[in-house]
Amino acid sequence: MNLILMGAPGAGKGTQAVKISEKFNIPTISTGDTLRRAIADGTEMGLKAKSYMDEGKLVPDAVVIGIIKDYLATDACKNGFILDGFPRSLPQAEALDAMGGNIDAVVSIDVADDVIVERMSGRRVCACGASYHVRHNPPAVADVCDKCGSALYTRADDNAETVKNRLQTYHDLTEPIAEYYNAKGKLIRVDGQGAVEDITARVFAALESIEA
Ligand code: ADP
Ligand code: ZN
Repeated sequence: MNLILMGAPGAGKGTQAVKISEKFNIPTISTGDTLRRAIADGTEMGLKAKSYMDEGKLVPDAVVIGIIKDYLATDACKNGFILDGFPRSLPQAEALDAMGGNIDAVVSIDVADDVIVERMSGRRVCACGASYHVRHNPPAVADVCDKCGSALYTRADDNAETVKNRLQTYHDLTEPIAEYYNAKGKLIRVDGQGAVEDITARVFAALESIEA
């Protein structure tokens, strides 16, 4: 199964990607995680991406298209894959088609803007990929990861000003690709508000309907 997860920043793409990955035994690639790793490693790609990410803008299409192209060429995704955070613009969606990345479904996790802003202001993340919220999903010990014991931190781009820009970017550049996939009969919209388990149940129900 080849899937795309789309949704506003903080809609819960990463959380649902982990659940789908475990249940269907397919790997996930997150362009955001890949870019953050590149920044941490101080690579050329990271240097190029950082200023865009700090401002809440999309990094240039060529950079992320390159990441996905390399990934889809690996054996890891032979039996399926989940794209978390790609494509995010029409040119990226078209480039994915040109690569032959045959997509079975695009799951859009829909969350209202005011809920997004509230979620982002309390988000704490771990280097291992785990994600928490100070009120809705707190770790057992404050600021310590349940999974690996590392210290939690706030992502550099989770400040109010950048969140506003990321949301605007989403509406302007990413949301139009929902229609692109809807026209191909691939779009599945899932209500992304409420308890994480309930959202996961909705996502699984939607995916089982396309598997059948
Ligand atoms: P979120 O979905 O919460 O905004 P991500 O980790 O997916 O978080 O993305 C963080 C940032 O990385 C984005 O704001 C953007 O600058 C950059 N980025 C990630 N994926 C892409 C993409 N497909 N195209 C362009 N920029 C991207
Ligand atoms: Zn951790």
